[in-house]
Order: sequence, then C-alpha cells, then structure tokens
Amino acid sequence: MNLTKIEGGGYRIGIPVPFPMKYVYCHLIPRGKEYVLIDVGLNYREARETWEKVFLSLNISPSSICEIYLTHFHPDHSGLAGWMQEKTGANVYIHDLDRRMMHQVWGEDSDQSIRVKTMMKDYGVPVSLSEKIADHMDKLVRKVTPLPTMHTLPNVVEFDGRSWQVIHAPGHSDGLVCLYDPKKQVLFSADLILDPITPNISVWPGARQNPLHDYLHSLRYIQQFPIRIAYTAHGEPITHVKKRIDQLIQHHEQRLSMIRNLASGRTAYEIASILFKKRELNPHQWRFAMAETIAHLNYLEFKRKLKKHYMNPKIYYERTLEIS
Ligand SMILES: [Zn+2]
Ligand SMILES: [Zn+2]
Repeated sequence: MNLTKIEGGGYRIGIPVPFPMKYVYCHLIPRGKEYVLIDVGLNYREARETWEKVFLSLNISPSSICEIYLTHFHPDHSGLAGWMQEKTGANVYIHDLDRRMMHQVWGEDSDQSIRVKTMMKDYGVPVSLSEKIADHMDKLVRKVTPLPTMHTLPNVVEFDGRSWQVIHAPGHSDGLVCLYDPKKQVLFSADLILDPITPNISVWPGARQNPLHDYLHSLRYIQQFPIRIAYTAHGEPITHVKKRIDQLIQHHEQRLSMIRNLASGRTAYEIASILFKKRELNPHQWRFAMAETIAHLNYLEFKRKLKKHYMNPKIYYERTLEIS
C-alpha cells in the first residue's frame, strides 16, 4: 500500500489511477476523534479496493470520516466522491465554480462530450479523431458517477487541531483550491504545483476561456506565502515551492513563444501535431494536447499577439505585428 504518515497526525495515501501519473495522493487527517478527507480518487475497482484496505489497515471506521474536501472537479480527484459519501455519510465540500463544472461535465443531462467534439472540429481535429475523443469522454463518466451531494467550501476549515485557509487558485480548473496553514507553513497544493509533471492547463467549453492567465496569476499569488512543504496530489511533496513556481512560469513562457512562432497559417491541431510529434497520442491524450494548446493560443490572443481567422469550418491563426 502506498501510504505514508505526514507531519501532524495525518496520512498521505496513493490511490491508483489508470493514467501515466499512476497515483492521486489523497489525505486523511484527524479532527478530534473523527477524520477529514482531502480528495478521493477515480471511481474504478482498484481505487475502491485500495480504500477498503486503507480503512482496514489503519483500523478506521468509514463512518468516522465527517467531511470530504474536493480540491477540484477533475475525475482523478472527485470521481469517487459519491461512493465515498455513501460509505461514510460525510458532507462533501467543493468550490462553487467546480461544483457547477462537476454537474456540467459529469451530470446526467451533460452534453459536454458533444461540445468538446464541436470544439475539437472547429480547431482543426479530423472528424474521426474528434469522435473518438467524445466516445472516450462518454466512457469516463462511469468512473465519476454517482455524483455526491455537494456544499460550498467555506473560507476556513479546521482539522489536525488547527485552522486552514481555503485559497482559491484557478487555472488548472476554475474552482481549484489549496489549503494553507500559515502557522506551520504547510500547503495542500492539489494540482496547482507538481514536480516533475507540469500541471495541465486546458480550455473547455463552459469554463473560463483564458485559464493560463488565471494559472500564472495563481502561481504568483501563492509564491508570496511562506511554504515549508506542499503536499501535492501527484508525485512527491515539494519543499522548494518558490523555485518550482519559477520553473513552471518559465515553462509556460517558453511554450508561449514556441506556439506564437508556429502559429502563422496553422490550425490549433496542426500546431499541437508539431508540439507533440515525438509521442504517439491516444484520444484521451489528444483531448488534453489540444485543450492545452488552445489555452496557450487563447492567452496569446488575449494579449493581442495572435489573431484568429474563421475559415469555415476551421479556425486558423495569424501573428500580429510585434509592437515593441
Ligand atoms: Zn486536476
Ligand atoms: Zn490530478
């Protein structure tokens, strides 16, 4: 079992995910005689079995979990929330913006996969690949349902005998939050800062359309806080937070300049095909490669460094003249 004790009285638990990052790290932390949970994992057999083993080996009754905090709506973090709520009876909390996305993307009447398919086609993805991307999204819904009953996260939460500030840090998702203890300078950073992975910054229908701007702003905001350790949701905890944030900002600056140089006369799909040419991508990876490329293109367009041209049925880009 991938389980370690963290400072204070809590546990960092690696719950398997069927993606290259292998685990999402969820945190189980005491509050008096009860426990709170930060994130839960994806709803599939391996993850559910892992939780059963965790409860047995720590000798914790699921009913002693009183609150579940979801750092954001992505399936690897929130997919098991309905199952976990049923098992524990706990209240589930999430930021309002991501509660809305949870219903929009994974709710019963969701037409998100159709909207994503249309977006992919508009940005130049071949029809057959757009259809595969939508099919893959439809299948993923099973790993995210049932949805829990969700409440709005308050500004401060209590566990481990102390108060934690809930910091809204949009970009990776519109409603992503980190939890911060200013006294001990500990941050639960979710997918805001990861190492060595770079968090995916993507544009989705129905969400904010300049997430890279939000993300860079969130990174600079978090960089002001003294942080000794960040408990991340993938990879190892980070003790060099300021340096890692500098690296992440630099990564996106390089990516922006590369994409601007490639953009002229090309669709987003043609640009992504060049950026990701060394890798064979499956439809799921193509969805993220496209959404991430569009996030950079939107950022450049908002900064007036690129212009869109609608040449039915696709969108092409042109560089604007450099004004210095
Ligand atoms: Zn995420
Ligand atoms: Zn994640």
